[in-house]
Amino acid sequence: MRPVVLCFSGLDPSGGAGLQADIEAIGQAGAHAAIACTAVTVQSSQQVFGFEACAASLVKDQATAVLDDLPVSVIKSGMLGTTDNIAMLTQLFADGSIAEGTPFVLDPVLVANSGGSLGDEQTLVAAFKKLLPYATLITPNTHELRALSGEQDLRLGAQKLCEQGTYAVLVKTSHDFESGDIEQYLYIKGEMVHESILPRLQGEFHGSGCSLASFIAGRLAMSDAVVDAVKAADNWITQTLRAADAPHPTDAKAQLIPNRFIDFSK
Ligand code: PLP
Repeated sequence: MRPVVLCFSGLDPSGGAGLQADIEAIGQAGAHAAIACTAVTVQSSQQVFGFEACAASLVKDQATAVLDDLPVSVIKSGMLGTTDNIAMLTQLFADGSIAEGTPFVLDPVLVANSGGSLGDEQTLVAAFKKLLPYATLITPNTHELRALSGEQDLRLGAQKLCEQGTYAVLVKTSHDFESGDIEQYLYIKGEMVHESILPRLQGEFHGSGCSLASFIAGRLAMSDAVVDAVKAADNWITQTLRAADAPHPTDAKAQLIPNRFIDFSK
């Protein structure tokens, strides 16, 4: 069968972010997505109204059912919602339920693009620190990098996460809306190995971070090296954003939904 990526992520009923973004992006990368649902959010494409996290035991049971059944080759996490869920995932790595050496893409979701809360930031940050040593690649925006590392400087922040055991860090300036182009820096073992400048397209996008991290996870499952997976994802995400759907076309401030079903042949 196609290689499997097991995702730990939340449901976004608008279909822009969360587990739907994971399923679509991983499918587009050529792999199969399996999902352990961590939370049900109540949100539109524009705004988070609330969420209810799944109990850690329920998330663990979902993950175990998949791990016992499918040949999982990569793990990806997005919104985990509670420190219990983060601790449970950490334990799955620590006790060998997830085979040692399984690549793991960690999207350290703290807040939604719209600014809505997806968990208590301070407690999530503390719990994430224990998960960092298992991450092959962490994909923070600048806010998440600073919160996780305690460093303002992006290079120092990325180096600090590598010192804590993360193999690679992809820092994105995508949420710094006042900045011009989007800069992305990929650090491996603390050294910058790749830099890309992506055009900042008109508008804000709901689910772009989830889509990028999941496409990378899918490409890792397809045996790409980290640098190649990131380069492929840069190209793919730019096209999904160019083709994004506009739920409120007359409102210039409304968030757009990436179109992850773009046809590469055109
Ligand atoms: N996961 C879930 C379930 C979400 O609802 C969101 C944002 O709304 C995210 C992750 C992060 O989304 P983004 O990719 O826009 O940062």
